Amino acid sequence: MMGERRGLILDRDGVINIDINFLHRIEDVVFVEGIFDLVRAAKAAGYAIVVATNQSGIGRDMYSEAQFHTLMDWIGAEFVAQGGGIDAVYFCPHHPTEGQGEYRRDCACRKPKPGMFLQAIAEWDLDPAQSWTIGDNWRDVDAGAAAGVANRVLIDPTGTPVHQDRGHWVAPSMAEIQRMMGL
Ligand SMILES: [Mg+2]
Repeated sequence: MMGERRGLILDRDGVINIDINFLHRIEDVVFVEGIFDLVRAAKAAGYAIVVATNQSGIGRDMYSEAQFHTLMDWIGAEFVAQGGGIDAVYFCPHHPTEGQGEYRRDCACRKPKPGMFLQAIAEWDLDPAQSWTIGDNWRDVDAGAAAGVANRVLIDPTGTPVHQDRGHWVAPSMAEIQRMMGL
């Protein structure tokens, strides 16, 4: 049965924090401007706040699952302190060619595949037709489309005006996305 709740499904690197490639240390986190305001407003409007992130750095043995969780716990606490907590984090540690050992596989969770989105939709009773997803890479919006998430936005901080591209939106800032969401 289809869920009823609205979800805001966020990529992490490039959406929550500035993407520095394989971020794994708290001291390297720089939050994206406007992300706290957006999440606080979405949370107040009843959205479930979900992170879905490819983390092949785990599979590549650049950092461990424990380090990932330590970082996400810290990021989660920052969001709580800013008035809008993250409800769930889904991550894919695999890579089809660069993963080490059990991490080398052609999994169903690595975006652009929709595995993490489908799991979030099922576990959080989300209605994909009323949900939004924000990414900074074509893989993010394609995964959202494959899971039926109706509202998909690619953030492009180079300042491009809001426009549509192959079924998803492109927007220059979190403030603009917040406005698009009516929050
Ligand atoms: Mg990203």
